[in-house]
Amino acid sequence: MGSTLSPNDLYRLPWTLPDNAISWLEPTSMCNLYCDGCYRKNESNAHKSLEVVRQELDTFNRLRKTDGVSIAGGDPLVHPQIEKIVEMVASDGQKPIINTNGLALTMEKLKALKNAGVAGFTFHIDSGQNRPHMKGKTEFELNDLRLHYAEMLAEVGGISCAFNATVYDHTLRDVPLIVEWGQKHIDIVNILVFIAYRAAPVHHGYNYYVGGKQIDMTPIAYAVEKERKAPIMSTDIVEMIRTKYPDFMPSAYLNSTERPDHFKWLLTLRMGTKDRIYGYVGPKFMEIGQTLHHLMHGSYLAYTLPKTLHQGRRMLLGSPLDRGLARIASAYLHHALRSPLVLFKKLHLQTVMAIQPADFMENGALGMCDGCPDITVYDNKLVWSCRMEELINFGDWVRAVPDNGQ
Ligand code: SF4
Repeated sequence: MGSTLSPNDLYRLPWTLPDNAISWLEPTSMCNLYCDGCYRKNESNAHKSLEVVRQELDTFNRLRKTDGVSIAGGDPLVHPQIEKIVEMVASDGQKPIINTNGLALTMEKLKALKNAGVAGFTFHIDSGQNRPHMKGKTEFELNDLRLHYAEMLAEVGGISCAFNATVYDHTLRDVPLIVEWGQKHIDIVNILVFIAYRAAPVHHGYNYYVGGKQIDMTPIAYAVEKERKAPIMSTDIVEMIRTKYPDFMPSAYLNSTERPDHFKWLLTLRMGTKDRIYGYVGPKFMEIGQTLHHLMHGSYLAYTLPKTLHQGRRMLLGSPLDRGLARIASAYLHHALRSPLVLFKKLHLQTVMAIQPADFMENGALGMCDGCPDITVYDNKLVWSCRMEELINFGDWVRAVPDNGQ
């Protein structure tokens, strides 16, 4: 599919290595599932102690401004001291966001995490996970499971609710079904994230090096012998969503370290009710939001509290500053003139994100997310979480070098 997006029409998120919206903490690499495309080797009882977690948080605090901390893994809910870890992040003045498959989440656990200060959950749910009792379920059928977790969070209240799904070439066509489901539950679902499947194909015609030493890539969890079809791009996800929502329009992005016109994180904010989407905010709205948050809190904005996201009507006051908001206001007022009852419904804001992880370039370089939000700590340094297995296995980053037939 072709892309109709130009970086010049969107806001380049201001996130950098030392000053970002999010950081990525991995308190364990143990997981209770084996998902296709996972970047981490699943290791039993690989829980970090609270002391190590403290050290990693201190490294973030020393080297990087951050608004939210994604607590990931493995699955963080299998860590026996997860409540304490959430408390540690919250007491540093950051928003703890749990990235989980949800399997280990009970109502009791959720309430304990809320008491510990959890700000949000991102549930990873898709058809590539080999979930017990869910084998063979389509993305559409998994919407019931998504709703189960969204309703759990809504019952407890005050916690941001996000879902992410890895998108494979055979599930790309299902993305609009999830986006449509998200609209039906826009009052309790705040964020939808679609992550294009990536692995590190061991390409013929390339040799792999760490420093000057040639290595064998196969022990790496994300190395695959055979490449799938052409990799899905974030713009393919947008084009697919447009088959259902033709005016779907992103407002902000992060580019690739190798290509300014590759959208690694492509962010869309839509405003509407369960029955109707009135439109999409524009780049100025994003710029104002990020800048004001930085001025007021010293870091860029990651997760917005649900109560703010339900204040759509108040945000429309910013219409003179943003063309997207002005279009939303116009569509909303026209509708209200015909059906005044809509004035009694809340207007919600919902994020739809498309992420395009590392891209293999022809010269062997890897296009990474410029201003990577999922930076983690390894050996007291800030590193890409999606490539940490290279450090674990080889002590440094792997470079692919074309062998040029020699
Ligand atoms: S560079 Fe890797 S870790 Fe960072 S945001 Fe992109 S995919 Fe995630």
